[in-house]
Amino acid sequence: MKPIVAIVGRPNVGKSTLFNRITRSRDAIVDDLPGVTRDRIFGDARWNDKLFTLVDTGGFAEGDDDPFAPHIRRQVTQAIADADAVVLVLDGKGGVSPFDADLIHTLRTVDKPAHFVVNKIDGEGQEKNMAEFYGLGIETLFPVSAEHGYGISDFMDALTATFPGDEESDAHPDAIRIAVVGKPNAGKSSLINAILGEQRLVVSEMAGTTRDAIDSVFIRENRHYVLVDTAGIRRKGKVSMRLEKFSIIKALRSLERCDVALIVIDAEQGISDQDVRVAGYAQDRGCGAIFLLNKWDLVDNRDGKALRRMTDDLRMAAKFLSFAPVLTVSALTGQRVPKIFSLVDAVYNQYDFRVTTGQLNKVMEKALERTPPPLHKGKRLKFYYATQVSSKPPTFVSFVSFPEAVHFSYQRYLVNQIRDAFGLDKIPLRMLLRQRT
Ligand code: GDP
Ligand code: GDP
Repeated sequence: MKPIVAIVGRPNVGKSTLFNRITRSRDAIVDDLPGVTRDRIFGDARWNDKLFTLVDTGGFAEGDDDPFAPHIRRQVTQAIADADAVVLVLDGKGGVSPFDADLIHTLRTVDKPAHFVVNKIDGEGQEKNMAEFYGLGIETLFPVSAEHGYGISDFMDALTATFPGDEESDAHPDAIRIAVVGKPNAGKSSLINAILGEQRLVVSEMAGTTRDAIDSVFIRENRHYVLVDTAGIRRKGKVSMRLEKFSIIKALRSLERCDVALIVIDAEQGISDQDVRVAGYAQDRGCGAIFLLNKWDLVDNRDGKALRRMTDDLRMAAKFLSFAPVLTVSALTGQRVPKIFSLVDAVYNQYDFRVTTGQLNKVMEKALERTPPPLHKGKRLKFYYATQVSSKPPTFVSFVSFPEAVHFSYQRYLVNQIRDAFGLDKIPLRMLLRQRT
């Protein structure tokens, strides 16, 4: 399980520059459908063999750059509470500000690793700017230049020192892992209770690999399921649940660990921007996804067209998840709650799909024959062969003479041919193009 690292600090200290430096050195993964333009506030990173997720809390502020605004303060505090490690970025050019002292104080009160970097130290000559920061009483300060890379590798070694290595530890390797995500009051905890309440068999809580990650494990028709990150939901009183704020990091954490995300939407209210944002996170994660239009008992469906209307709205707003099935449910009455499982199974079976290189290339050859690749500088682009490199989600690598010349629409055509040939209509598929000359 990947640790989540939150970057905090005042506006303009260089958080997003640092974020980009740490996350950018990855293979660009091209999804088969264009995402809507969203501010990226999280990204996956790897240092040596350590994988982790980085969250830039700068993106949490909506339109307001005043670090003392209460909502920014709250969001930063929440991010600190939810992350596994925190990086406070200080401005080596601008100097210390009261907000920094405030954040340092907050970090002292939470029991998790905190790292302090002084950014904009663009070389050894500028280390003199560090003096002022030592006055803050922090034991280890990392001078870095997010822009130029100075000091980054020492910092990254320290940050990732205690992170687990690449291999995944999992108590139930065959279980289907389900995350329940959605905006506040959509009905997530009601739904979790309805799902677990429906299980007359034993439900056990299992500690996840990281603190506060408690999962609920159950068996249904001989299949193991894990509802991830359900810590305390079954015990907690309704009042405190309602007070619990929407936490992006919590949603990310459970999406990170799931095979299938149940994206819960309050159908009485219709599709909101926040629903679309959550859907966007699921898409970025590449997990399977199912939209649950919850509170269906409250929806006025006298003309029998409510489902059609909402599905149209949803498809319009979240085109990028057009493959995700839609189901109307009521956590309150239990209506169609059992049906969630047949959908989860169907999505999971595709998500876990594997194909041999031989079968895959038969499909690719046919597709290349039916619609030949376009010309590039007068020569036909050449596709050599393709192979599946991983599942969950199925990910293919295709070797091409000039990957950068392959137009998005042609790539999408190929992906859709694979979808059709193997009946993969309910999940994301990824295709990476690699150079071969
Ligand atoms: P954020 O608001 O904390 O996310 O800050 P940004 O990453 O947007 O950076 C704010 C400004 O500081 C930009 O103009 C960056 O170019 C600049 N900056 C960021 N990192 C460095 C650095 O390492 N050295 C210098 N000299 N400038 C930097
Ligand atoms: P969460 O914040 O997403 O966990 O949402 P909750 O599960 O706490 O539900 C928020 C409110 O919606 C509570 O008052 C629930 O009783 C109510 N609620 C949840 N699901 C349904 C449903 O299917 N129908 C109706 N009528 N109310 C629901």
